Amino acid sequence: MKAAIVVIDGIGDRPLKKLGSKTPLEAARRRNLDYIASRAINGLLYPVAPGIRPGSDTAHLSILGYDALSSYTGRGPFEAAGAGIKVKPGDIALRCNFATVDDNLVVLDRRAGRKIPQEEKEVLEKVINEIELEEAEIIFKSTLDHRGALVLRGKNLSDRISDTDPHVEGERIKKAAPLDKSKEAEKTCEILNEVITTAHKKLKTLEINKKREKEGKKQINMLLTRGAGKAPAYQSFSEKYNMKGACIATVALVKGVGRFVGLEGIEVKDDASITELGEAALKTLEKYDFVLLNIKACDDASHDKNPERKIAAIEEIDSMLRIFLEFIGENYLVLLGDHTTSCSRGDHCAEPTPIAIAGPEVRVDDARKFTEREAAKGALGHIRGSEVMPILIDLLNRSEKFGA
Ligand code: ZN
Ligand code: ZN
Repeated sequence: MKAAIVVIDGIGDRPLKKLGSKTPLEAARRRNLDYIASRAINGLLYPVAPGIRPGSDTAHLSILGYDALSSYTGRGPFEAAGAGIKVKPGDIALRCNFATVDDNLVVLDRRAGRKIPQEEKEVLEKVINEIELEEAEIIFKSTLDHRGALVLRGKNLSDRISDTDPHVEGERIKKAAPLDKSKEAEKTCEILNEVITTAHKKLKTLEINKKREKEGKKQINMLLTRGAGKAPAYQSFSEKYNMKGACIATVALVKGVGRFVGLEGIEVKDDASITELGEAALKTLEKYDFVLLNIKACDDASHDKNPERKIAAIEEIDSMLRIFLEFIGENYLVLLGDHTTSCSRGDHCAEPTPIAIAGPEVRVDDARKFTEREAAKGALGHIRGSEVMPILIDLLNRSEKFGA
């Protein structure tokens, strides 16, 4: 038996007046979602814990059975892993922007014009990676547009350091400062400040900047850093559950969580369609025991406060799920949201999201629809993210008896 968790990112919502007090999920056409719910045990899922508004990273960690509340050190390490850096426990990871500053280091554009061509990104990546440090190793990857991930690797480094990004334009860049009195924080600040100074010196004389100047484009002459996080150590998924698992996602943050816990990252195009993602998941299950598939579209629409687009995304996911109907005859499929994303707020909130577990031996309950309110009729009741994997592992007959 195999298992798939399909994470419909940000699926839950609050009732919306313009939808006649229905949620987008309630307002959407749901053939396959409801079919699966009617052959499943259903419930409401608190991705981390009641009252906690989860980020996608902490929610995915919890759903995979890792204690986010005690282990989470910020999104930096996950972003870096998602960018393809092999992050190790103890590494300090930071999120970065390429930016434009003037001669007094006042930030003119935090994004250096935002769109940076691929060939320029490659040059920038090389320049940053060539910075030599005495007390640490530097690993840098360019990601989307002006963004990047920076890892400092060395002995006794600390993530208790402040941002060099002033977060607003018109202000001078900041020096990294220690956030506690430790030697480690002081040392890490010295290292990072050296990186920033050297990066600025190297960047401003680059040929690509001369070319950009001629073209009337903004200079790429500064690296801004924020959100330092020390990479935590997690037991690998395969060791924890004795299963070969993989992760499919288009967003770096979720890819990073997958890589961090040792799930194999299956490559898909960043703009893969929902159908392509579903097909990739089923194909992956030919070789793996477990797959986590993240589908981002509903969350994006909710952040844009666009319930119509959210409904359209739900309906697209609904039709994709047709290809999973055969799968649940012999295997287990978990449908859930990693959090509620409210279209009225444009952000995540703490309300639980529906969860349905379908498969050969579940005790099918009275819930007949995959919606926030119908899920409350389900036999699972209210569960937390960290309880999903134990329940699934038991259904798969892979768990061990507790006691005699
Ligand atoms: Zn999410
Ligand atoms: Zn979101």
